[in-house]
Amino acid sequence: MENVKERTEELLHEANSSILFVANRPQIVMEHGEGMYVWDTEGKKYLDFIGGWAVTALGHSPKVIADALVQQAGKLINVSPAFYNKPMIEFAQLLTGLSGLERVFFGSTGAEANESAIKLARKYGSVCKGGAYEVITANRSFHGRTLAMMAATGKPQWEQKFTPQMPGFVKVPFNDIEAVRSAITPKTCAVMLELIQGEGGVHEVSLDYVKELRSLCDEQGVLLIFDEIQTGLGRTGRMFAFEHYGVTPDVLTLAKGIGGGFPLSAMLAKEAFNLFEPGDQGGTYTGQPLGMAVGLAVVGELIERKLPAQAAKQGAYLQTKLREVQAKYGLSGIRGKGLLLAFDLPEPRGEELVAACLEAGLLINSSSPQTIRLMPALVVTDEEIDRMMSILCAVMDQLILK
Ligand SMILES: *Cc1c(COP(=O)(O)O)cnc(C)c1O
Repeated sequence: MENVKERTEELLHEANSSILFVANRPQIVMEHGEGMYVWDTEGKKYLDFIGGWAVTALGHSPKVIADALVQQAGKLINVSPAFYNKPMIEFAQLLTGLSGLERVFFGSTGAEANESAIKLARKYGSVCKGGAYEVITANRSFHGRTLAMMAATGKPQWEQKFTPQMPGFVKVPFNDIEAVRSAITPKTCAVMLELIQGEGGVHEVSLDYVKELRSLCDEQGVLLIFDEIQTGLGRTGRMFAFEHYGVTPDVLTLAKGIGGGFPLSAMLAKEAFNLFEPGDQGGTYTGQPLGMAVGLAVVGELIERKLPAQAAKQGAYLQTKLREVQAKYGLSGIRGKGLLLAFDLPEPRGEELVAACLEAGLLINSSSPQTIRLMPALVVTDEEIDRMMSILCAVMDQLILK
């Protein structure tokens, strides 16, 4: 036991002295995972309601992903983006069929999928709209961490970072159709939107807004891009969040849950916007066979086990449980869809609550000082939700949160 502690201290010393500092990470080292749980190097077990940041849709280290990786690795790991490969074609067929958008481009990260979407929008602007290049995004949105996506993101704190900012993004208030209407000019080529703002704290668009936005974009010849990197692939209780609103985008971006933990993303577009020419877009790992095999396995599993519906059911159960203790702890604004949920604390003590839960063996996320966000694997059971609630309540009792 002493040995295990010493080895962990050594590892942490190495981590703290060799890994570029980008975040205050807890002083533990994660070692293995199974289902809803992860274990650190000291053998401590954590119930995971962060879900790898809304990524590990099938839970930790599911057999279907391990099997897909082993099988594909034995056949073909990489053949360069210059060639088609079999899992790439199969996965393209699956995603285009599911989404109703006829074309797909694959990437590795969400930011990369969004970059592809913006490049496609600018291509559309240059080919079809007299050089229009501006993209309208929403305040409080999150679209990724590349330089262009930092400019697209609606975080005021980011405006002064890594300047000069990439030009061409115009921000409007969320859920305000008149604001979009007046922001559209002949320079506008697209509007990019999260249907539920994830990083922003789980804020949902209104049905009227989405419907009006669709008509407005059609009327103005402006592309409508939905960033479903966090909301896609069953997370909100439907395969894609746009199904809740009966509105289809021109361009759709997916990442996070699509690979269940393997770095994988996709940008889908309607046939009419199949506009790239050779040299416009690409990437060493686009359609990389291992990623394609994993994506096929993950999405296949989502369909076969009806996990979007399961997420809707479990999310409703989790919301009920939160409402039962809402008055006792002064919680408010319990919100979200499926298993993308959040609530507000009576005081801005999110970080403290997250740290105390970690100590108690529960992983949760505080998306802002007063907001707690929950995004467990889509396979979470009632028992695991009950267990999460009992740890959370015990911790809130201990912090005298009321
Ligand atoms: C996480 C996220 C991104 C960025 O994805 P990365 O894989 O981190 O690049 C973009 N948009 C939304 C809505 C996200 O939640």
